Amino acid sequence: MAKTKVIAVANQKGGVGKSTSVYCIGAGLAAEGKKVLLVDVDPQGDLTKMLGQRKPHELPLTLGNVMDGIVAGTAFKEHPEIMRHSEGFDFVPANRSLSAVEVGLVNVMSRETVLRQYLDSVKQDYDYVLLDCRPSLGMLVINALSASDYVLIPVQADYLAAEDMTELIGTVQSIKRQINPKLKVGGVFLTMSNETKFRREIVQTVRTSFGQHLPVLNAVIPSTVRLAEISIADKSIFLHDPKGRAADAYRRLTKEVLDIGEKQRSRSSDLGK
Ligand code: ADP
Ligand code: MG
Repeated sequence: MAKTKVIAVANQKGGVGKSTSVYCIGAGLAAEGKKVLLVDVDPQGDLTKMLGQRKPHELPLTLGNVMDGIVAGTAFKEHPEIMRHSEGFDFVPANRSLSAVEVGLVNVMSRETVLRQYLDSVKQDYDYVLLDCRPSLGMLVINALSASDYVLIPVQADYLAAEDMTELIGTVQSIKRQINPKLKVGGVFLTMSNETKFRREIVQTVRTSFGQHLPVLNAVIPSTVRLAEISIADKSIFLHDPKGRAADAYRRLTKEVLDIGEKQRSRSSDLGK
């Protein structure tokens, strides 16, 4: 099997479609025959809920427990925390206990790489591991970026905040410099876009604002209630509204994600090394 690609979906802004995108890209990759693991790295547990676990706080085993285990030096041979989703991928759920883990990391040695150590023990079974980040640039996001080959950045089309992007890219650069030299920006993509006719312009703005070295993906995710509905439908967009615009857009985005690190090798940002 080819080497596993670990991809963090990150933006410190909340409500830009990170969790929805992790779910839909994950389901899209699984539909393409890839072996996929989704990891909820947000104590809110939004992804966990979307994947059908409505009461994350009642789950006996979550990412919080396994990260605690890594910190305590416990070695796991089996991985009962990994759950199976009916759409053909696996996931590791999260709940509020992950917040305590994040706070506790401050005093831990190698605190930036606890998640990487965990993923190193499970990722060999997968083609893709997608990490759903919490909306911050705190220690959990640093852990996600330290564990990743690529970061995908969803940007809300109508609220393009250049300062937020600069801050996020700065974090990516410093993690690349200090902890994880292989980290690259796999792409920026637009979510929740309302104006079809302005898309080209918005994509252009993203390109000019964030530098020619930052790859901007072509797929633009429309703003549609069909996507808002999937968080309670227990189905990805591909089953909920397979013929709709949103499913089309996520299909195209999935294809672009498949290209990351393949023929787009030269397009992925090196961030000036
Ligand atoms: P984040 O993980 O960045 O906080 P979510 O994926 O949880 O963002 O999305 C925030 C809210 O917007 C959720 O209620 C979700 O169902 C909804 N949503 C996500 N993507 C879209 C979209 N393209 N169009 C409309 N609503 C969306
Ligand atoms: Mg989220």
